[in-house]
Amino acid sequence: MKTSIDELAVFGGRPAFSEKLHVGRPNVGDREALTRYFHDILDRRWFTNKGPYVEEFERRIAEMMGVKYCIAMCNATIALEIAIRALDMKGEVIVPSMTFVATAHSLQWQEITPVFCDIDPETCNLDPAAIEKMITPRTTGIIGVHLWGRPCVPDVVEGIARRNGLKLLFDAAHAFGCSYRGRMIGAFGDAEVFSFHATKFFNTFEGGAVLTNRPELAERIRLMKNFGFQGYDNVIYIGTNGKMTEICAAMGLAGLARLDEFIAVNRRNYRTYEACLAGVPGVRLLPYGDDEKQNYQYVVAEIDETRTGIERDMVVGILHAENVLARRYFYPGCHRMEPYRSYFPHAALLLPHTERIVRRVVSLPTGTSVDPGAIAEICGILRLVSEQGGEIRKKMQAVAIR
Ligand SMILES: *Cc1c(COP(=O)(O)O)cnc(C)c1O
Repeated sequence: MKTSIDELAVFGGRPAFSEKLHVGRPNVGDREALTRYFHDILDRRWFTNKGPYVEEFERRIAEMMGVKYCIAMCNATIALEIAIRALDMKGEVIVPSMTFVATAHSLQWQEITPVFCDIDPETCNLDPAAIEKMITPRTTGIIGVHLWGRPCVPDVVEGIARRNGLKLLFDAAHAFGCSYRGRMIGAFGDAEVFSFHATKFFNTFEGGAVLTNRPELAERIRLMKNFGFQGYDNVIYIGTNGKMTEICAAMGLAGLARLDEFIAVNRRNYRTYEACLAGVPGVRLLPYGDDEKQNYQYVVAEIDETRTGIERDMVVGILHAENVLARRYFYPGCHRMEPYRSYFPHAALLLPHTERIVRRVVSLPTGTSVDPGAIAEICGILRLVSEQGGEIRKKMQAVAIR
C-alpha cells in the first residue's frame, strides 16, 4: 500500500499493478457449455437466420424480463436505429447528453435531431422537469437511458410521454438484470434496448436486443432486422441486416448460466469500494436506489475538487500511471462531440448539471477480473491523493513545466 506521494508512479514510483486493470474486461460464462454449443452449431451448419440458439436466447430473455417479445440483434446501436424507425420517430427526439454517443448517433444517422436534455445531478439520469421544457411541436419521442444501470424513473417518464403523445424508448445498455420497483428493466416504455457488447457485464461477444410488449411493433422490428423479408422471397418493408448469429446467442446462453455469479462479484466489488472509500474526503461513490435491483456493473466515483484540492483529470492521470485504467465516462458529453457540437454550439447553456458532472465522475475497474485486494490498493491511492491533493497538484504542475 502506498503511503507517501513520492511512491506514486506519476513521480517515478513503481506502478501499483504490473498489469493494466480495466473498467470492463469481458465476463466469460460457462466455457464447457459454450464449447458444446459451438460444435453443435458446426455440426448442424446453421449459423444465422432464426437458428435454434437465437430462438432459445430470445425466449429466455423475454421470460426473464417478463416481456412478451424479444428480438435479438447484432448490436445495440443497430437495435436502437431499427426501434427508432419502427416507432416512426422523426423530427426531434429528446435524449440525455450524458450517455454513450451511440444513443445520439442512432437518431442522427437517420436524420432525426437529438435534443439534449439535462440530468438530475443525484441520479445522472434525465431530469423529468427538464424533459417537459425541451418538448416542441416537432418532438415525436423520448429516449431515456438507464445510466450505469440506474432506472431512468421509467414510470414518471412514461407519464410525460403519454400526456404529450410521444413515443418512448429506453436505452437499457447498462441495465441488464436490473429492476425498478419490482419490475424488470426491459418492460418499460414502447420498447427497450439492451447491449450485449463484450464490455457490458453480460455479453454475446457483440449483440443487442429490443424488448417490447406490443405485437405489431415486434413484428415490424423482426422484419426490419432481416431486410423486410416475410417468407422466402416476399419483401414487404424497407429493412437492414441486424441479425444475431448462432455463436453469439450461444455465448449469451453460456453467460446466462453464470449471471448470478457475475452480479455477486460486482456487488462484492462495489461494497468493497464503498467500505474502502468511506471517510475519504471529496471522493463519493454514486449510490444506488432502494427501489431498484442492480447489476453493479459500474463503480462511479465523484471527485469534489474543492475538497480534494486536485481535479478529476489529474486523479485519472495518477491512476493510469499506476496501471489502473479508470475511465471518464461519459466525458465530454455528446453535445461536445461531432457532429453535435457544430450543429448546436450553444447546447451547453441548457445542460448545467451535465456540464458539471462530466468533469467530476470517474468509472473504476470492476468485474470478475478484479479482486478485493486490488480494490483496497486502488482506494489506498485515492485516499493518499485526496488527503494530499494540493501538494500532489503542485508537484505534478512542476513536473509538467520541467
Ligand atoms: C454500449 C452502449 C451502446 C451501444 O451498444 P453496442 O452494442 O456496442 O452497439 C448504446 N448505449 C449505451 C448507453 C451504451 O453504453
